[in-house]
Amino acid sequence: MLKLNDPAWSRLTTAYGDGEEAVQLLRRLVTAAEDAELRQELFELLLHQDTIYTATLAAMPYLAAMAETTEHTETLVDLYIACGWMESGREHGADRLDIASSGEFRRERQPKLPDETIASIVEGYRIGLERLSHLYEQAAGFDLKGNKQSGDAASIASGEPEDNENPEAVYLLAAQAAYAGEIEVARLLLNFPEGDEYSGACPSCQADWYVWPKEGDAEVLVVYMDDPVTAQKENRDSAVVQAISATSLRAELQKLAHEAGRLGAHRLAVTIPSLDGQATCPECGSEVSVWAALVG
Ligand SMILES: [Zn+2]
Repeated sequence: MLKLNDPAWSRLTTAYGDGEEAVQLLRRLVTAAEDAELRQELFELLLHQDTIYTATLAAMPYLAAMAETTEHTETLVDLYIACGWMESGREHGADRLDIASSGEFRRERQPKLPDETIASIVEGYRIGLERLSHLYEQAAGFDLKGNKQSGDAASIASGEPEDNENPEAVYLLAAQAAYAGEIEVARLLLNFPEGDEYSGACPSCQADWYVWPKEGDAEVLVVYMDDPVTAQKENRDSAVVQAISATSLRAELQKLAHEAGRLGAHRLAVTIPSLDGQATCPECGSEVSVWAALVG
């Protein structure tokens, strides 16, 4: 990994300037990982609206090492989620693990870096990813302690109070998906962390889709052509999503369904068969994949 005293940091970029400020914060954080404010200050430089930078790539292995060694569970969860968010924002090439091909190295305001600097960053980032991917059970285990595992999907589906919903679970699941290379899943979860109100576009005619739960039946998703918040209720076009059977779910969603239930992301858990389902586009009448509409 790129050493903390390497002068190359000043040639890296962050959301707001060069990497110098980032590495100064990082040096402080190495001995104070539990300082939530300091972490936040650094994250703001490294991750901005789902975009990351070369300083992010260089800093990530240090964050991974902190996540691995901290005894403070909240710090672990925070670092685990933040680094997963960073990975899901990385502009990777055809081979996700070919870190050197990441678009962050080729941005306009990124000065050309010496090969050995790139090699250090690339090697560090790869090791960081590897370390983080092993921390899921530890991060999730902490989260489970604070949340009842027994929350039953039926009470959610019937619209009963969702006081056992775990608001952090979707972020944990997104990070896990990012480390597993399931970037579409990670991005979908990070874009729609409530786990029930999605938007996308018809893969056939590109019309906007709003995919929301049916009123009073959270397990059923409905495609609307207008934002359900603002649309007139009486005359809006809609189509009910035909959910797929649990055993036919694509592999990454089968795993997600299992983990969402376990971690207490119940709203997400009950909608997963619909996320992989089919619907007739109210605009063009084509029968299309909901998944393609949401991640396409
Ligand atoms: Zn359409």
